[in-house]
This record gives sequence, structure tokens and C-alpha cells, in this order.
Amino acid sequence: MKVYMEQGILQENARQAEENRALFGKTLVVNLIGSPGCGKTTLLEKTLAALGKEFRMAVIEGDIYTTKDAQRIEACGVPVVQVNTAGGCHLSAEITARAAADLDLADLDILFIENVGNLVCPAEFDLGEDCKAAVLSVVEGDDKPAKYPLLFREAGVVVLNKCDLLPYTNFNMDSALADLQGLNEKAPVLQLSAAREEGLEPWYAWLRRAAAEKKA
Ligand code: MG
Ligand code: ZN
Repeated sequence: MKVYMEQGILQENARQAEENRALFGKTLVVNLIGSPGCGKTTLLEKTLAALGKEFRMAVIEGDIYTTKDAQRIEACGVPVVQVNTAGGCHLSAEITARAAADLDLADLDILFIENVGNLVCPAEFDLGEDCKAAVLSVVEGDDKPAKYPLLFREAGVVVLNKCDLLPYTNFNMDSALADLQGLNEKAPVLQLSAAREEGLEPWYAWLRRAAAEKKA
């Protein structure tokens, strides 16, 4: 009987992630991780519309079931591959490699991977991306960075979304920012509202810089 231990799974994943990194070449790959409903797909829709003339972009959509998010991305006119994990709560490097095989990577400046909505295990699985983007909406609560530290430690950028709703929540921004700073001094924290298209410029500037660094 073969028993796979978690350690073995992560080692195999790390090996495949290295292969993916080679495969991705000069394409900037951003792995979006956040809870269901935090606004990952909305952030992507706005980004694809705003930067469509500057960059060749594509999206891998990870969901447990349905093609609902992929349909929204397809409407933006960019290549999209939907991955259904059929119950799986995160994307792996292997499933990412299979999805990426359907894309013309040499023809892309930025590949976004929208991970399965979950603050926990997606952070454990390296997909070969350049950067994890942690997305947290303020309606989820200011305690989430401290409660789910791995994601926020690993993130290259943190998006605090739905900031237009701050007056209707008890989200303590000072407390959240202090926790984020304690976990990760390097990642910029961007306060914005994707749905309202407020505060998106620093996010676009971050993407432009990251894409240019990858090309260099
Ligand atoms: Mg989504
Ligand atoms: Zn999982």
C-alpha cells in the first residue's frame, strides 16, 4: 500500500513548480489568493480592461466547480483556462502546468492565476508563480492576517479590497496594517475598491513594475 504523506506531496509540488518557472519564461505570473467573495475576479476584470492595450494577458481560473468566473473573464476578451478541482481546495503546480499548456506562453506578458477561494492551503502550494497577491476584503475582518499568517507572509503584494465599505464595518485599519507589517515588511499594502474602481492606480503601477522587472 502506498501512503502519500503531506511532505511528499509538497516536495513533488515544489519539483513541478520549478518546471513551471522555466516554462513561464519572461511572462510575469501572479497567483491571486483570497477568500470566496473577496473580489479576486472583479479585480481581474477591472485590470484586464484597464491594461488591455499595454499588456498581452491571460488567466487561469481555479474553482472547485463551475465555469462562472471563466465566463466573466472570457467576456473581457482575453484567453482563459478554467480548472475545476472537483472538491480540491487549492491549485497544485501540476494542475497549473496542464492548464498553462493550453496557453501560448511565449505570447504573454502577464498570466494571472485565480486560485480557489481559500485563505489556507493555496498559500502552501508553489505554482511556479513570480508572486502571490493576497486579496482580503475589509468585510472579512481585520483579524484575518494574524489568523492566516502564511499567506500574508508569502505575499509579494497585499490588496485590501472593498475599502468603500469601511464605514459599514468595524474593520480596524491600524490594527490590520500593524499585523501585516509584523508578518511581512516588504509587501506593499494597497487599499482599494475594485468594484468602484477606486485606488486601482497603485495596483496597476505595481503590475507594470513587476512585468518590466520580469522582462529585464
Ligand atoms: Mg472568483
Ligand atoms: Zn487545499
